[in-house]
Amino acid sequence: MKEYAIYPFEEMRITQAHNEGNHLAHWYPFKDVADKPWDEACKDSGRSSFCPQNDYVIEEILGLGNNITNSVRIKTVNKVIIPYQDEPVYLELTFTHMEEEDLRKLYVGQILKKGSKPFREGKDGANAYHFHCTANIGKYYGFKKNGNGKWCYVYEKSLLPDEAFYIDSNVTTIYNARGYRFQEVPKQFLPARGWFTKGDSGENVDKINNWLAEHVKGQFFGDYTEACVKVFQKQNGLEEDGNIGPITLSKMEEQGFKE
Ligand SMILES: [Zn+2]
Repeated sequence: MKEYAIYPFEEMRITQAHNEGNHLAHWYPFKDVADKPWDEACKDSGRSSFCPQNDYVIEEILGLGNNITNSVRIKTVNKVIIPYQDEPVYLELTFTHMEEEDLRKLYVGQILKKGSKPFREGKDGANAYHFHCTANIGKYYGFKKNGNGKWCYVYEKSLLPDEAFYIDSNVTTIYNARGYRFQEVPKQFLPARGWFTKGDSGENVDKINNWLAEHVKGQFFGDYTEACVKVFQKQNGLEEDGNIGPITLSKMEEQGFKE
């Protein structure tokens, strides 16, 4: 199935584009040693997290135990479709200024699963919580200083955020796109975020079960009923056969069931 690169933050509040302020010096006029960063401040209050919407693998961690600003370089596990070109490609991202405590838990080769929240914004090398981000494709040439004195992640091709990512409006609320023109991801290819499947647990599964019990009424003892009986039997230390016999029935009656 086609996989689209989806913007990896729940709030978009871009506070500095690639061609503004101290970002301009990242690439102008030194295009050979350059990247095109943007600053993502997310909620702009509290500590937001990077929230990947594709699976990524960590390629490099910088900034622990030295004076380099905290950073990670990551790459999509799969080739993804990006707005910049038709051919699927590995998308390479860098993030800077993240929380050191989170960075310490990461390791090279680690898979960052879509929907996870592996690290939060930090202030290492910055005066306000935000992520300094770059998106790139092609060969990586290194972390290099250009003629303007800016440290850049030098790849074959540096992309603007709207060239690298589609937006899934179910994931990202846009507060400030800073003039970038993001496109919505084609709906039929949305990632399976928020879907629930067999084996899942948690508060939402509880809500789903309660809702279904209210809304799916019928007099047919089917797979759903059988599955519920098995769960009930398991919870009560009974044999999980999915049938309601005298033992199961009396347990149910103890807990309020009336025929
Ligand atoms: Zn920045």
